[in-house]
Amino acid sequence: MKRVLLLLPTTGYRNNDFLAAANKLGVEIVAAANYCHQLAPSWGLSPIMALHFDQPEQAADTVLREIKVNPDAVLAVDDSGVELAALLAARLGLPGNSSHAVRRVRDKLAFRQLLQELEFLCPEFHHLSTGEDPRTLVPNLKFPVVVKARRLSASRGVIRADDSEQLVQAVNRVRAIQSRADRDAEGLGLVIEGFIPGREYALEGALDKGELTALALFDKPDPLDGPYFEETLYITPSRLPAEFQSRIRHEVAGVCRSAGLTDGPIHAEMRVNDQGIWLLEVAPRSIGGLCGRVLTHSLGMTLEELILRRVVGEPLPISNAEGAAGVMMIPVPRRGIYHGVEGLAEARAVLAVTEVILTAEPGQIIAPPPDGSSYLGFIFSRASSAAEAEQALRVAHRRLRFDIRAEYPAMEAHVSGS
Ligand code: ADP
Repeated sequence: MKRVLLLLPTTGYRNNDFLAAANKLGVEIVAAANYCHQLAPSWGLSPIMALHFDQPEQAADTVLREIKVNPDAVLAVDDSGVELAALLAARLGLPGNSSHAVRRVRDKLAFRQLLQELEFLCPEFHHLSTGEDPRTLVPNLKFPVVVKARRLSASRGVIRADDSEQLVQAVNRVRAIQSRADRDAEGLGLVIEGFIPGREYALEGALDKGELTALALFDKPDPLDGPYFEETLYITPSRLPAEFQSRIRHEVAGVCRSAGLTDGPIHAEMRVNDQGIWLLEVAPRSIGGLCGRVLTHSLGMTLEELILRRVVGEPLPISNAEGAAGVMMIPVPRRGIYHGVEGLAEARAVLAVTEVILTAEPGQIIAPPPDGSSYLGFIFSRASSAAEAEQALRVAHRRLRFDIRAEYPAMEAHVSGS
């Protein structure tokens, strides 16, 4: 029986999907998690259930000290664990990406430097250190620009600025977000880069000894022009001309090769315009949230099963499923406390909609990007064409009515009555 060391994030959407896939394939899982290091010991959990994924060196030492049996592979469920997984694989002598390569592509500044070095299309970019006045950069900037935190995800801490006044506001806000979300914020600073006009696409793939297999190319049909960049729709297959799709695959494969990414899932995001393909991100992980479920039909298995089969070297049955599929990450319309939803049955009844899953919990404080990084839930569709799959998601979404209330109603009443 193959044994996989699985890095489970506390807030992971897909922990159960990976565990179910392991169960189905008869793979033994050795779990390691980032559950609270103060609570986990009092729950009787071993130290490898309370790791700091964001301190991979220290976490790797703990794992290697504590695990009783060596695994055949190491796998991170999501982005938070990929650096630790790479480090562990290297120390255990198992195949995997180099931790240097993983660290480089996860840092938005280092990724831009890499693209520039390799002469891929890349906007002009600048590093703004902590404490540095953004106005000193203004003479060198061509507005609009995008201000970004270095290592956050899901568009958290990403804001467009069209002039110097907006730049100062955006920098202050992104600095505050990064310092709440990243314990290394002080030493990181921010990235400020040129805004790239164009439409956005995402490629889901898998690497095996440096060879990239594309699993799907998604259109993101809603324009993402800022000032904040909340993701909504992913539709596959892409409606881009085939020649362009193959250029995208080629581009992503080229960056993986040059960056030294060799194994495991790949999720890449790019903008396309008259000048060509502009990579926003090439990440050594699979698609986030529950979005991977949009591929179950075309892959003939869950994405988690496919990833697990690849790491343990199980054969992959070929799937020839036809048709289109889509997913909507249900956007958070405003900050507040989520109380519930109406219209769920009506949304589920829309033709071509296959599933509506609410992941927000009643009582939870929610916020759209740039502050928040989670969604209300996910709507899935399957249809004979991409246009129908997209339309079904829009219709279903219009049928949902969310009850989101202010966090401090007394204060709000005071303000509006004054
Ligand atoms: P994250 O990893 O948080 O998703 P990204 O760098 O991919 O961060 O940015 C999030 C979103 O912000 C992108 O999907 C895109 O819509 C927008 N964005 C980021 N950088 C740029 C840019 N230079 N020009 C235009 N849009 C951008």
